[in-house]
Amino acid sequence: MFKRFLSYYEPQMGLFVTDTVCALVLAAIDLAFPIILRNLTGGLFTQGQAAIMQALGMIAVGLVLMYAARCACRYFVSYWGHVMGARMESKMREDLFDQYERFSFAYFDRNSSGDMMSRVVNDLFDICEAAHHVPEWIIICGIEIIGSFVILFTIAPVLALAMAVVTAAFAVIMFWQNMRMREVFSDNRKKISGINAQLQDSLAGMRVVKSFANEETERAKFRASNDRYLLSKENMYHAMGVYTATYGLLSGVLYVIVVLLGGWLVAKGQLQAVDMATFALYISLFCTPLETLVNSAETYQKAIAGFKRMDEVLSTAPDIQDKPGATDLQVTAGAVEYHDVCFNYEDVELGEGYADERPVIDHMDLSIKPGQTIALVGPSGGGKSTTCSLLPRFYDVATGSISIDGQDVRDVTQQSLRRAIGLVQQDVYLFDGTIGENIAYGKPGATAEEIAEAARRANIDAFIESLPQGYDTVVGERGSRLSGGQKQRVAIARVFLKNPKILILDEATSALDNESEEAVQESLEELARGRTTIIIAHRLSTIKHADEIATVEHGRVVERGTHEELLARGGTYARYYRMQFEGARAHELD
Ligand code: ADP
Repeated sequence: MFKRFLSYYEPQMGLFVTDTVCALVLAAIDLAFPIILRNLTGGLFTQGQAAIMQALGMIAVGLVLMYAARCACRYFVSYWGHVMGARMESKMREDLFDQYERFSFAYFDRNSSGDMMSRVVNDLFDICEAAHHVPEWIIICGIEIIGSFVILFTIAPVLALAMAVVTAAFAVIMFWQNMRMREVFSDNRKKISGINAQLQDSLAGMRVVKSFANEETERAKFRASNDRYLLSKENMYHAMGVYTATYGLLSGVLYVIVVLLGGWLVAKGQLQAVDMATFALYISLFCTPLETLVNSAETYQKAIAGFKRMDEVLSTAPDIQDKPGATDLQVTAGAVEYHDVCFNYEDVELGEGYADERPVIDHMDLSIKPGQTIALVGPSGGGKSTTCSLLPRFYDVATGSISIDGQDVRDVTQQSLRRAIGLVQQDVYLFDGTIGENIAYGKPGATAEEIAEAARRANIDAFIESLPQGYDTVVGERGSRLSGGQKQRVAIARVFLKNPKILILDEATSALDNESEEAVQESLEELARGRTTIIIAHRLSTIKHADEIATVEHGRVVERGTHEELLARGGTYARYYRMQFEGARAHELD
């Protein structure tokens, strides 16, 4: 993890070196000041008044120059240091986002979006501070501590050694406390992420919350997360308090040693009074950087707690990756072949005694001819959507294979594979932008004419043009300002623009009323023309014109044929069809 952290310094080497040099100059100036003062007071005032004035004038010029240099260094250390930290933080955010984009659906099944957001937004918050302050503080304070110790040692070796022993003892205690701080900071990060997850869930589901009048329940859940966060913050401040108090005790003990031991040495004539005073001056020069180091330990631990959570994500290998040397998919005709496919979701564990221990997709064979439209029907939970998710490699098959025009989907690049497949689902996701932008999502860089043509083919052009702002109308979060049917047609226009050879329509019209369904159905039929299409539909009336229908039960295709053939066979499909036709128990079907 530390190596990864250091790697973020590499691109910022120029800034890091500038920052370090300025920090070194700063430390040198701070260290030189008491020596100058000592020399000044040592012999100067024994001379004549004119000589004193002349020397004072030169010293004043020297001091002004020194402090001007100090100010310039402070500026560079502060400005460039923060810029360096901010750039590192920004790069980490980008890397984290890129990594999230590499993960397959299984990762998103396992992790809440609130937690993921927290890692990108909150966790890296302290990195900027730590990235530049910690090295800079270590340099400045290290030099100041070592320098002042050497000076102290030359003045009074016994006192300096006594101080070193006490400081070393405290350092061990503080190191141990530092470890404890790391734990509480990590815990604090987790609790923030818990709040984020809770908030995200409640806000995204606000319509459901309100429709069930369950505000009180949500409030209680949020308060519980918030209380956990508060408690962890209290623990954090306790640990920080103990840590800083320990440091306070150290500086107190050091002063007591100087007074007692120093006084004793002066009394015995082994130390001059002026040296004891200089010693006391250096103690503050010794303790101030020590205090800064204590603070830097806190800053570092906070940042590391966040970086650790980022590192967890970066160290997780995406479970679906392109094979080395994977080539682009070449779709010539659009034939799709599922061969003996088995698949299970990671966390699907069927309990002991569970009679049906079959996988979600169980030795499925399914071949779809180029340009053919095949409808999947069957009971809810039978595996229809899962079958479709395996084709674009949202999940990988456990055994068996899926191929398009003879190329195994695992052998080609994911990008080319997914560009060849268009997906329209029941739950349409529109981005919070304009209608035009949402349609253009199907083909980045599409011209206004192409967008309008896609809208026309999706049968939504008249509606868009009737809006005062036409294609520039903002759709709202998740397209909240459009009706279900309108959203669905925007989604269809998007796929028209993408122009894929293969199409998956997963319950695309299930959420719509009859009138919208009819309009959307027409657009879908237009979209499916000339493309290999897999349809999952709730209402069997919408798929009876499919070239073929396959009934999927327990992750297998149990029968297959045209609507008429299946009706004549009198199997599962015929039973479903009769049930829907009679309007009875339709809810059992998916
Ligand atoms: P259908 O589309 O026929 O209704 P699905 O393919 O959606 O069926 O689901 C098949 C089985 O897989 C169900 O038992 C369902 O609970 C389970 N399942 C679906 N999606 C997931 C998921 N993301 N994680 C775990 N289990 C899932």
